[in-house]
Amino acid sequence: MVLAQLGGSISRALAQMSNATVIDEKVLGECLNEISRALLQSDVQFKMVRDMQTNIRKIVNLETLAAGTNKRRIIQQAVFTELCNMLDPGKPAFTPKKGKPSVVMFVGLQGSGKTTTCTKYAYYHQRKGFKPSLVCADTFRAGAFDQLKQNATKAKIPFYGSYMESDPVKIAVEGLERFRKENSDLIIIDTSGRHKQEAALFEEMRQVAEATKPDLVIFVMDGSIGQAAFDQAQAFKQSASVGAVIVTKLDGHAKGGGALSAVAATKSPVIFIGTGEHIDEFEIFDVKPFVSRLLG
Ligand code: GDP
Repeated sequence: MVLAQLGGSISRALAQMSNATVIDEKVLGECLNEISRALLQSDVQFKMVRDMQTNIRKIVNLETLAAGTNKRRIIQQAVFTELCNMLDPGKPAFTPKKGKPSVVMFVGLQGSGKTTTCTKYAYYHQRKGFKPSLVCADTFRAGAFDQLKQNATKAKIPFYGSYMESDPVKIAVEGLERFRKENSDLIIIDTSGRHKQEAALFEEMRQVAEATKPDLVIFVMDGSIGQAAFDQAQAFKQSASVGAVIVTKLDGHAKGGGALSAVAATKSPVIFIGTGEHIDEFEIFDVKPFVSRLLG
């Protein structure tokens, strides 16, 4: 179920409830079940859906609501609040400051859109007046350095990498030293991925993070990975202390639920979303407008 459909289904469930003459436990229950079904179909983790139901029931206690209160509004508000809460871990992500050197490390599986997103992130900040730089510490995928080099050259962003060196930690540290000397205020480290979650990858992430001490680790997730999102995000969180999430490919048939699961697993906010292959198809993620749009 794509995002717009998810929003449509939830809105329909709420509208159906509004059509009922009396809103009683049965009507509320049906509405919540309908919403839960929509969320599950959109790959939101089962436990989160169950928790959401419980929370809404806590807020909306039909028996204790005074006569004359607008139950529909209260229920709609509760659904809105719950969806916002699911996307808001309660603490903002680290944000780089112009002129103050920051290191941001990207992690994610191969194909998630990590390399593309590194350049988008660099380009976004360059346009805001930062001096970003890109380090390719992905020594696993053949062609990774070439890809980063091409992207960086197009966007006129300084880059560092090696065709010969096979140790990602060494490259990351060398790149860091180089760009610190050049007064880059935003050093972005692209790391290796694998096709699936593997111990070797997580060990490598741990080592790169230990050697470069990033101010922020961003987990990049393909928006269409579905129910796998929670475990994947959690596994990365355990190897490098993920502090933010970027969900890519939300222009395609991506399901919305993965984003909710990634936030829950990493206890970190989504900061941007990728909406295309092009360098400026990149949007700031803002919870309330996103949920409003979702609910139409
Ligand atoms: P990496 O292996 O994680 O570094 O992934 P890449 O950056 O190489 O991206 C894998 C593929 O996904 C490439 O074909 C990208 O152009 C594509 N891609 C990345 N982000 C997006 C996005 O937001 N939307 C779409 N449609 N494609 C994307």
